Amino acid sequence: MLHYRKQFITQISAGRVRFGADARYALADEIAALGCQRALILSTASQSSVAEDIIRLCGAAAAGRFSGAVMHTPVEISERATDYAKKINADILVAVGGGSTIGLSKAIALRTGLPQIVLPVTYAGSEATAILGQTENGIKSTLTSPLVKPEVIIYDINLAATLPLKVAIPSAMNALAHAAEGLYARDNSPLSSLMAVEGLRAFRKALPRVVEDPKDPDARGEALYGAWLCGSVLGQVGMALHHKLCHTLGGSFNLPHAETHSVILPHAIHYNAAAVPEMLTPVSEIFANASPGIALYDFAKKMAAPLALRDLGLQASDLDRAVEIALAKPYWNPRPVERKPLREMLQAAWLGERPGG
Ligand code: NAD
Repeated sequence: MLHYRKQFITQISAGRVRFGADARYALADEIAALGCQRALILSTASQSSVAEDIIRLCGAAAAGRFSGAVMHTPVEISERATDYAKKINADILVAVGGGSTIGLSKAIALRTGLPQIVLPVTYAGSEATAILGQTENGIKSTLTSPLVKPEVIIYDINLAATLPLKVAIPSAMNALAHAAEGLYARDNSPLSSLMAVEGLRAFRKALPRVVEDPKDPDARGEALYGAWLCGSVLGQVGMALHHKLCHTLGGSFNLPHAETHSVILPHAIHYNAAAVPEMLTPVSEIFANASPGIALYDFAKKMAAPLALRDLGLQASDLDRAVEIALAKPYWNPRPVERKPLREMLQAAWLGERPGG
């Protein structure tokens, strides 16, 4: 990975992580350890019964519940939840769910400075970052602030094991995207690359076993371990073409987040492999194909992950506009992002073709 010839700077913020089967039972202790007594529990509407279980685990420290989290963190919902947090005098936020619920928690933390304990059940990785994406008037923007980074992450294998495969598989592809792009990040370090490689390995091993037996606790545990590593990579280094394209497609065409990552990943990695093949060698080795993009495509196909943008509701007529939006704001990428190859790449992703034809 050539790190010894490269200078690097790394700043690792010491977030607290509690990992394991039934780790959620330590929630009341974690709240008390932060000196807090009034927890606001957050979830999506469909996860409100899980939120009720979490309320029971908080015991006397449970002060209220807000089960209105939705994808892309709309500002109006964050403001409503913030008002509620103030009304009940919450002194800590407890989020149970995926990136949408954790996004809501981060948005309230930004507005109030409250500490957060998060219990992730998807593999999206938001829990390990100081990044918040918010949507206002249909436009998604991203900010980075230490205020939004959760103080404690509780990874409970048994809590995450209820995630249906149709959510878990694309979510795993979302996690792989953080690791794969982390390998060639401009600001990567030996540690971020170690985490990326180990995260890729964990999913390569665990995901086929999760698909075969969704209740296998070892496989679920290893996938969650992979999610922590891949999320930590996202929290440490800057991302490039892949994340930019997914942001564009999600924000401007309202495509589902994890599914879009799943489709785009093999194509974006194939595009960049032309410029930095040696940095993507771990992907080739772990997924057993000399071409890292094809390796990821074949893995996604075997896992029955989403492969085509047209299946996610994107129209063929949207592709030109997607290219324009992606080109509008220049951003760093190891290979220059040019109109013609980008358009060809999106066409292949729209059709669900193997990258490179
Ligand atoms: P999500 O949080 O929207 O969850 C997907 C769906 O799965 C939801 O409807 C949820 O209710 C449901 N679900 C969750 N657990 C379930 C369970 N056990 N059983 C049944 N259903 C369950 O999806 P996600 O992919 O985790 O998050 C996507 C959002 O997170 C996007 O808005 C994205 O921008 C954001 N995100 C942010 C970061 C960051 O660092 N800021 C990183 C990754 C993702």
